[in-house]
Amino acid sequence: MEEQLKFRDPALAKKVADHIESLAPSYTVKFCHVCGTHEWTITHHGLRALLPKTVEVIAGPGCPVCILPAADIDEAIFLALEGVTVATYGDVIRVPASKTSLQEAKASGGDVRIVYGVGDAVKMAKKEPNRDFVFFAIGFETTAPSTAVEVLNKPLENLSFLVSHRLIPPAMELLLGVEGLQISGFIAPGHVSTIIGVKAYEMFPKVYHMPTVVAGFEPLDVLFAISMLLKQIGDGKARLENEYPHCVRWDGNVKAQQLIEKVFKVVDGRWRGLGTIPSSALVLREEFAAYDARKKYDIKIEGSRDLLPGCLCHLVIVGKINPSECPLFMKTCTPQTPKGACMVSNEGTCRIWAKHKITE
Ligand code: SF4
Repeated sequence: MEEQLKFRDPALAKKVADHIESLAPSYTVKFCHVCGTHEWTITHHGLRALLPKTVEVIAGPGCPVCILPAADIDEAIFLALEGVTVATYGDVIRVPASKTSLQEAKASGGDVRIVYGVGDAVKMAKKEPNRDFVFFAIGFETTAPSTAVEVLNKPLENLSFLVSHRLIPPAMELLLGVEGLQISGFIAPGHVSTIIGVKAYEMFPKVYHMPTVVAGFEPLDVLFAISMLLKQIGDGKARLENEYPHCVRWDGNVKAQQLIEKVFKVVDGRWRGLGTIPSSALVLREEFAAYDARKKYDIKIEGSRDLLPGCLCHLVIVGKINPSECPLFMKTCTPQTPKGACMVSNEGTCRIWAKHKITE
């Protein structure tokens, strides 16, 4: 706790902000983070107000619920309405899918249960062996290892997995090609990096000449990361640096990486509102086909759509617009009545801005 408080020290934050001011170029630079927790820290602590006018920080696709394609939720809804028990995280059930949500499917008689992790789903399936369970496995590299562990443990046959895990580095690569975005540097996500390691971002400075800093989640972590990015820009040399060395190693968590590798295959994957990103999704390997809900059940969905009319989540999640630029923000779309995925989770940019009453 003492260590955490040091990273919230207002006097030190002011010093780092002054340092940032001294490093800021006369032209505008735009740093992109890809983590809902970073957006929370930045917004909650008012860090944008500490930055010079020429230094912008935008939010990329770092909220796992926000990037969940409607088609995958449609599949979960189909299963729930067919009598299969769908177990998943609380945020997921409120996300609007093509026509309805898992919450509405539950209200219509589907058995949808909220769990804190895959272990809860395993316990439920053991307790009710005559009922079919599907764990709707979402999240980035941080949650994929725990899904992998349970698959390797060979759960009872009444449990299968609807896998919607996604990978962060390919989404960062996509951002570099978004027309008009012109990112000047990446603040890479601390949580994901504990698993994949700093090395996973090597291509950004090497191939794309993009300054990249792995950062933690306290206000000073983010400010330090911004100052490190500005220093790289000032030096005219893109580097890969680690601001979060007490948690993130160069190689990451090798054991967790091996678990992911053993259980999953990397394939192209759809991201909500962004289309298909090459090599950005995980599916179960053939030897685990018996646990693959997509193979076990004849799931029929058609005409999925990621965005409800008027929703601009596809622009919010790549940082092209701020939530307040969406005409629905805090009018018809509120935390109580979300019209898009970005308003559902505490990691969603619209939800974070709404909670902090930021309207411009
Ligand atoms: S305010 Fe609502 S509708 Fe608009 S982009 Fe955000 S989540 Fe989508």
